[in-house]
Amino acid sequence: MSEILVLGAGMVGVSTALALQARGHAVTLADRRAPGLETSYGNAGVIQVEAAEPYPMPRDPMTLARMALGRSNDIAYSPAGLLHQSGALWRYFRASGPRRHKVVSQIYSQLTARATADHQPLITASGSENLIARDGLALLFRKAIDFDAAARAAEHLRAAYGVASRAVDGKAWQREEPALRLTPAGAVHYTGSWSASDPGGLTAAYADLFERQGGRILLADAKTLLRTGSGWQIDGPDGPITTKAAVLCLGPWTGSYLRRFGLRVPMVLKRGYHAHYDAPLRPRRPFLDADNGVVLSPMTRGLRMASGAALVPMDAAADPRQLRRAEAAVGTLIELGPRLEEPQWVGTRPCLPSMLPMVGAIPAQSGLWVNFGHGHQGFTLGPTTATLLADAFEGAPSELQKALSPAVQMI
Ligand SMILES: Cc1cc2nc3c(=O)[nH]c(=O)nc-3n(C[C@H](O)[C@H](O)[C@H](O)COP(=O)(O)OP(=O)(O)OC[C@H]3O[C@@H](n4cnc5c(N)ncnc54)[C@H](O)[C@@H]3O)c2cc1C
Repeated sequence: MSEILVLGAGMVGVSTALALQARGHAVTLADRRAPGLETSYGNAGVIQVEAAEPYPMPRDPMTLARMALGRSNDIAYSPAGLLHQSGALWRYFRASGPRRHKVVSQIYSQLTARATADHQPLITASGSENLIARDGLALLFRKAIDFDAAARAAEHLRAAYGVASRAVDGKAWQREEPALRLTPAGAVHYTGSWSASDPGGLTAAYADLFERQGGRILLADAKTLLRTGSGWQIDGPDGPITTKAAVLCLGPWTGSYLRRFGLRVPMVLKRGYHAHYDAPLRPRRPFLDADNGVVLSPMTRGLRMASGAALVPMDAAADPRQLRRAEAAVGTLIELGPRLEEPQWVGTRPCLPSMLPMVGAIPAQSGLWVNFGHGHQGFTLGPTTATLLADAFEGAPSELQKALSPAVQMI
């Protein structure tokens, strides 16, 4: 047994703390805020087993031109955001070529395939069944040509990775989803995905479980982390805390934080927004309105609309234009109802240009580990990469973890 500090209490950090605790270690989980209040709070809440292939950067000139001209609501950017991330975006572009994307997808699909199975024991032990729905995720299309293409893509996912789905014509889908105001061309329903009605609440429930099982949670700033002779030290509320090992799970903040240790890991930071609505009729399950690049998820707080990605600096002021544009257009599909009053939530998908999370020990930095870079699927993959990291910590790394390790990814 050794003492381990896990820094960052989002879905990834909380899951990592639990996995290391399950191996018998004394674990301290530290964050500058309470667990589950950042990216793991504001996402669309889907546990996405259908996301077997990570999002490549579009490479065809037409799509890039549409994005550059601001005609696509999936992605927005600011010149400062592009400049700031230019190195990472170039790497992302290169990794998105068909051959490399196929290799990456073979790795990634092994993670998503086990995501629900890895969440289940934590859902049960934390008493969170009431937050989970097992109704899948739907992708909705207004144009037949888009629906046909999506149905073909779903067939590919089934053939390549065994992802279950059904393609349903628009009329039949409207019967299943009476909340819809118009008949879409069709829906692809990925039946194996789950969803949480309160993603931050689920993260917090996992953190409560960790604490009930003897784990320690405290407020601390990662900026105070120091290497000591044989381990690591951080300033806790009651003085310094020393441990043998530290695991950084700081989500989108991890890349800039690693610079303190002389490590350069460029990240693609894809900002997103959400808003809640008091919809008179809620959909039965989360769905992507493909034309508008937003996911609508029935949640405890209301119907949550989560936006596409904006490439802007982390500290840029909120500019929820994507959300507002979608709000106007989504209204033809479903009655949103009044928007609930709340401060504008902003979060950042922590993406690595490789499209893979980085999981494992940092070479030449004894006792320093990372688990971050889960991009669009960190809520899905937290428990899975946590298990991979804990196995490696025990000296039994899997082939999957080796493929995600800093030793491989930092080359
Ligand atoms: C709009 C949107 C929709 C999304 N939808 C989905 C979805 O449906 N399904 C899915 O799987 N994923 C989704 N994602 C992605 C997912 O939310 C993220 O990948 C995931 O939450 C990342 O988890 P994390 O624990 O790595 O980061 P976080 O949840 O951000 O946790 C990092 C923690 O580090 C802490 N921290 C930062 N700096 C310091 C410091 N100096 N000292 C101490 N602590 C610090 C923060 O307080 C935070 O608690 C979505 C993301 C967005 C933005």
